[in-house]
Amino acid sequence: MATRSPAPFDRLADAARERASAGLTRRLRPRSADPGAGTVDLAGNDYLAFARHPDVTAAAAAAARRWGAGATGSRLVTGDTMLHRELEDELADFCGTEAALVFSSGYTANLGMVTSLSGPSAALVCDRNNHASLIDAARLAKAAGTRVLLFDHADTAAAEAALADAGREHRMLLTDTVFSVDGDLTDTAALARACAEDGAALLLDDAHGLGVVGEGGAGALTAAGLRGAPGAAAAVTLSKSLGAQGGAVLGPGALVRHLVETARSFVFDTGLAPPAAGGALAALRLLRAEPERPGRLRSVALRLSAGLNAAGLDATRPDAAVVSVAAPSRGEAVAWAERCRAAGVAVGCFRPPSVPDGRSRIRLTAHADLTDVQVERAVEVIAATGPTGGAR
Ligand code: PMP
Repeated sequence: MATRSPAPFDRLADAARERASAGLTRRLRPRSADPGAGTVDLAGNDYLAFARHPDVTAAAAAAARRWGAGATGSRLVTGDTMLHRELEDELADFCGTEAALVFSSGYTANLGMVTSLSGPSAALVCDRNNHASLIDAARLAKAAGTRVLLFDHADTAAAEAALADAGREHRMLLTDTVFSVDGDLTDTAALARACAEDGAALLLDDAHGLGVVGEGGAGALTAAGLRGAPGAAAAVTLSKSLGAQGGAVLGPGALVRHLVETARSFVFDTGLAPPAAGGALAALRLLRAEPERPGRLRSVALRLSAGLNAAGLDATRPDAAVVSVAAPSRGEAVAWAERCRAAGVAVGCFRPPSVPDGRSRIRLTAHADLTDVQVERAVEVIAATGPTGGAR
């Protein structure tokens, strides 16, 4: 009798066991709608505390009532509204670019920006530590014939050498501005000079820069003196400092017009949901009306880092809003984050494959509305529950 072959998904249980034995299990954990006054959130990306701001939630609700819960189609079919246009105009004005195009997420914005400029005449020069969405964009670009070259993290000289070596007519340099795991900044101005010298385009992922760096939180283009620069573009997310959902590409009008017609993650994707567009627009207006918020965020990040280092931990000095604390192993990183959560301090945990082996860490994202008392409590909990802490 022929042996029955295993069911097609049986192999997934083996893969799950392998991940478990390597300490890499990931699971979903619904958060409470009302975290309570005792909880300190250092895990979410709601940097400026806009996600639940009454003006933002009211604008999201009003947009849903006026335009519907969903966009109903791709932007090129039925998904385009005056709300999307208003958001794009205000984003471009705030960030100092000629135009902007909103996408359904920062991820799809990155995919669209990179792939629509790709092909056999193109080369893409990428920082090794780029975010997963940029890595995926580069993979798609490569599949379309683009030459992909990597340079060592934040190494401008290596980036210049890679551009010189690229050997294709259209060259692009692709990098995060604020790296999401360690929170360090790339030298955007130096990379812009290298690109200008080479005739290459500079493509930035400013997901963690918008609302955080640059005057009034206007982002990395502003911080690097690149407002209106003809050779630069940036993708942003609307889901971090703006507390909503969605993404955008900001850059010259010619690029935005090209994206509208050719970016597959724009053309074949349902438009950004109106409540997200309305919420993001309200948050952007609040940010412009209260330009001191990014400064408050930064001082919270600096206080967190200083407190943790004073407690003997190895915390990064933040250039933006992310503070990262080294853990001795991937298992320790997971257990440490669990202990923090149990003690009422939510922190992020990064281990392979999100970071290279040996670089596991807990990650803290500062928020503009954290009080001194909350920062002190967070430092105490993180130090006491840490690998060498007293509370174990
Ligand atoms: N780039 C970076 C650096 C990010 O951290 C993220 C979000 N994790 C994204 C892009 C993707 O943005 P979104 O969540 O809006 O898809």
